[in-house]
Amino acid sequence: MSESNAQGYLPYGRQNISDDDIEAVIDALKSSRITQGPRVEEFEEALCEYTGADYCSVLSSGTAALHLAYAALDIGVGDEIVTSPITFAATANAARYLGADVRFADVDPASGNISVASVADKITPKTKAIVAVHLGGLPCDMREFRKLADFHGIALIEDAAHALGASFRGNSIGGGIADLAIFSFHPVKHLTTGEGGAVTTNSKSLKERIDRLRHHGIERNPENFSTPSPGRWYHEIVELGYNYRLTDFQCALGLSQLKRQAQGVARRREIAGYYRELLSPWSSSMSAQAQYDDRFSAYHLFPLQINFQALGVSRGETMDQLDQLGIGTQVHYIPVNHQPYYKSVYGEPESLPGATEYYARTLSLPMYPELSNSDVDYVVGSILNVLGLSTAESQRTKVAS
Ligand SMILES: *Cc1c(COP(=O)(O)O)cnc(C)c1O
Repeated sequence: MSESNAQGYLPYGRQNISDDDIEAVIDALKSSRITQGPRVEEFEEALCEYTGADYCSVLSSGTAALHLAYAALDIGVGDEIVTSPITFAATANAARYLGADVRFADVDPASGNISVASVADKITPKTKAIVAVHLGGLPCDMREFRKLADFHGIALIEDAAHALGASFRGNSIGGGIADLAIFSFHPVKHLTTGEGGAVTTNSKSLKERIDRLRHHGIERNPENFSTPSPGRWYHEIVELGYNYRLTDFQCALGLSQLKRQAQGVARRREIAGYYRELLSPWSSSMSAQAQYDDRFSAYHLFPLQINFQALGVSRGETMDQLDQLGIGTQVHYIPVNHQPYYKSVYGEPESLPGATEYYARTLSLPMYPELSNSDVDYVVGSILNVLGLSTAESQRTKVAS
């Protein structure tokens, strides 16, 4: 392990802020409207163009986007959503904000994505929506989920926080396969606004409802008032809303970042291809996330399934040793139904063997467009060493390359 890493620490993911991004933010800060200005709509239009959706509302976070997506569908007390336990807490938490219940379905351990058959099992007369999480940017089977949702007359939502730039059968994720899709612009995601998020939809009424909920439930269109408008100051609070707005300088950053998005996804896919190539001789001990001909992953993450048990090594120690070698890794995710809060609400989690297996083996490796191929060589070489897999043969080919 004499090889050193010239790049400094390699985190599992990180943002990229260019000089152009900084310029754009400064311009916005110097303009007359630093919030509720023209850049909000500009960013929404650019996201519509990128995803192919008819409508978009940008919001203060991906969590706010989930909250308002559920609220716009009138999900509340007595209702249920079905989602994956292998997701970030917010997917489930946002339903709890509204007093709704969360039923967790199992995942396919080869992809970590929620299984259509398991979701079908969990649907009850109380179910209002299926929430498909595209883990790491790999799309779920959206054709089957659409059929299932239509069969039951319920909504289909995509948690596409990882999947900006992904597609299913040539259709962009967030472009209208689902009724609503949410995105996150947290710095670890593809594109950042610091904090931020968005909902895309092809439904004008859902878009209008989300815009109203984003701004205190205030209605400004005189045509929708309960009484004739007495003057230009007048507005009506028609329901309980929130302040979930995104500022103009955040939208300026998002607009500038979006220009590099397609290029970033292309580079992520190259990096993933190179990881797969280097890891392929070790398939008996570890495997990359499943791939499908009809799906194009945006590779927010590069999750690896490592058979720690068979190798007789602990994941905690593996992560510690990689950290000492300057390599950041992460576990996506601890099954949400095993979290103390969810146990306090629903009791001991029911057995979901796919999620249990996936969680036991998963480790996300560094993945962001600025990684070089030699960084990838270094990451893979280090993992093989730490897992005790590297042979004299692999060391020689590594030095030669
Ligand atoms: C990041 C993330 C969210 C929440 O987004 P924030 O912008 O951090 O609120 C929701 N779902 C998933 C799967 C995420 O990764």
